[in-house]
Amino acid sequence: MISKKMIKLTQSNSVIRAMFEEGNRLAALHGRENVFDFSLGNPSIPSPAAVNEAILDIVKSEDSMSLHGYMSNAGYPAVRADVAKALNSKHGTALTENNIIMSSGAAGGMNVILKTLLNPGDEVIVVSPFFVEYGNYVSNFDGNLVIIPACRFDFQPDSDTLSKAITKKTKAVILNSPNNPTGVIYSEKTIKEVAAVLEERSRKYKKPIYIISDEPYRELAYDDAKVPWIMDFYKNTIVCYSWSKSLSLPGQRIGYIAIPSEIDDYELIFDAASIATRILGYVNAPALIQRVVAKCINEQTNVAAYDFNRVLLYGALEEFGFDVVYPQGAFYLWFKTPLDDKDFAAAAKKHNILLVPGSAFTCPGYARIAYCVSKETIERSLPAFEKLAKDVNL
Ligand code: PLP
Repeated sequence: MISKKMIKLTQSNSVIRAMFEEGNRLAALHGRENVFDFSLGNPSIPSPAAVNEAILDIVKSEDSMSLHGYMSNAGYPAVRADVAKALNSKHGTALTENNIIMSSGAAGGMNVILKTLLNPGDEVIVVSPFFVEYGNYVSNFDGNLVIIPACRFDFQPDSDTLSKAITKKTKAVILNSPNNPTGVIYSEKTIKEVAAVLEERSRKYKKPIYIISDEPYRELAYDDAKVPWIMDFYKNTIVCYSWSKSLSLPGQRIGYIAIPSEIDDYELIFDAASIATRILGYVNAPALIQRVVAKCINEQTNVAAYDFNRVLLYGALEEFGFDVVYPQGAFYLWFKTPLDDKDFAAAAKKHNILLVPGSAFTCPGYARIAYCVSKETIERSLPAFEKLAKDVNL
């Protein structure tokens, strides 16, 4: 018999993954070009050419031991120093290699930091709708997930709601901006309000409450929108970053955790997190791709291509009568479903449109479209969306 926790998890296997499988099934039946699969945040934009060039260059120039050998669990010191330098020049921080731990994507980083911080029964607050895996990450370490709703008007976290949700057991708050699934960027005003609440509650309970800022979409911001750097506003901030989306490298499993020296218990946290990478079993972030991202630290994905999809789809859906939240960042469109969200997803499937119902993000009554697909897929899908709108009486 397998673990009871895993039995539960297997039964509630991610709706998003199930949709992805369904996309493959429909593609085999109708042809890939006739299926509009908006279910998964798998970037369609190729990685910049510099990525493959860096791989070839590194493979040719490094000897086997320095390329394939064990390293310190936190990652290559030189790579961590390069990451720190890049962050300093962007955000005016004073980070060094001693503030950076390379991770196996954002998922790896979040698990490392939650393993580092949580005792059984500690509470971690998340803002709904949220990336569903957070629930699994928190339960991995016997923490309790506390879900608070974002403001239904603009999907920003609400500081009064947050304040009421904090108890003496609150260890951390996970923030994700630009947000999956809403596409909203948390404003400076929001971050300042959240910071004020956390400072006041930390004083009241005489213990730090950490912000874990999950930032795989930081560079995907449109209309020149600024994504506030949360460390500027709140001392006890730990950032989990990933190149999965920003350089289209999700299969390579590469990211970092930034742990500034100013946070409470910095040394304990940094040392424990460096050990957690090993205990969790991935030991260190993959060696080759660490070197690659360091060489490509100033490379960017083609944000303009995502922007094209965003503008086209947002305009069309509004025209067809859908009530869409204005997408500021990431590559997701979030809108109200005129019927129950699961029924709506089923109605969409009849037009070969695959999208994820809001309930999968603990927010029924909405749906998410991942528009990180080709421009042609968006263009070909518009007549199907128009028919869907008529079907659901918009
Ligand atoms: N956090 C959010 C909000 C995400 O959307 C994702 C992936 O879609 C992740 C974390 C995991 O990213 P990674 O592939 O870097 O582990």
